[in-house]
Amino acid sequence: MAAKAEFIWFNGEIMPWENATVHVLSHAIHYGSSVFEGVRAYNTPKGPAIFRHQEHTKRLFDSAKIYRINIAHSADEIMEATRELIRQNKLENAYIRPAAFLGDIGLGLRANPDAKSDVVIAAFEWGSYLGEGSLEAGVDVGVSSWNRLAPNTMPTGAKAGGNYLSSQLIAGEAGRHGYAEGIALDIHGQISEGSGENIFVVRNNVLYTPPTTAGILPGITRSTLITLAKELGYEVREESLAREALYLADEIFMCGTAAEVVPVRSVDGIQVGEGKRGPITEKVQTMYFGLFNGTTEDKWGWLDYV
Ligand code: PMP
Repeated sequence: MAAKAEFIWFNGEIMPWENATVHVLSHAIHYGSSVFEGVRAYNTPKGPAIFRHQEHTKRLFDSAKIYRINIAHSADEIMEATRELIRQNKLENAYIRPAAFLGDIGLGLRANPDAKSDVVIAAFEWGSYLGEGSLEAGVDVGVSSWNRLAPNTMPTGAKAGGNYLSSQLIAGEAGRHGYAEGIALDIHGQISEGSGENIFVVRNNVLYTPPTTAGILPGITRSTLITLAKELGYEVREESLAREALYLADEIFMCGTAAEVVPVRSVDGIQVGEGKRGPITEKVQTMYFGLFNGTTEDKWGWLDYV
């Protein structure tokens, strides 16, 4: 689907969607020099609220710091601009895409360290990334022949545009094999993550998820679900997982801002548990969506009301 809304925020100004354009020789187009976030706003009983807005904004600035990309706006300015954009676009539920990128600064690979990045914020309606039905029915996935990035090639802790070439290989291969998503192993052959989601494996009532050293993007949904699962009384372990953990799991789910919380019903054609959403997945999902429909109390101050 082609995303669209009436307005977009670009370099400090709210303007019509069509007017936010860049030069064809932009550095980011040629070399992937961009950092971005995926954020969601939900229509809660108290009105639209942006989920973990502060953490997403912090990660945007962290990603920019790693690549020495200057953002000529403060985190507060970006957050207020986002709230204003949602109001002006009259959105209730929204997917929000802030990005900072090197624009028309010349094609030298080594960017002038003083070059200011361009900054854009888009907000538009977007359903669950792996399909609305996926939240209940679950998805079939396959282990990718592509590994995630090695830690000393490109840092996966940065949410940088260039990293998503790896994600495109993983997602594209999965699609060609008839899977909704691919699971990549890290360079040591241990489970890492999906092309755009983190992963949890449930066995004997314990939740396992790969550690931040497994070539993952440390997801904000992942961190949310670790907190919620512990609230529900489950043990959660961040530890290295071998591929066969996928085949022997009682339940698996994947998570991310765009994908939300998605049960996995098979991996490489091997049925996971009962081959449908498992009971722990359902409890965690219910508690997650409860944050937005008001059935889970937001004890953590995660909702930023628009
Ligand atoms: N891993 C990758 C590669 C991603 O692109 C995403 C989506 N941002 C995630 C994990 C999940 O991160 P989050 O929960 O912060 O959206």
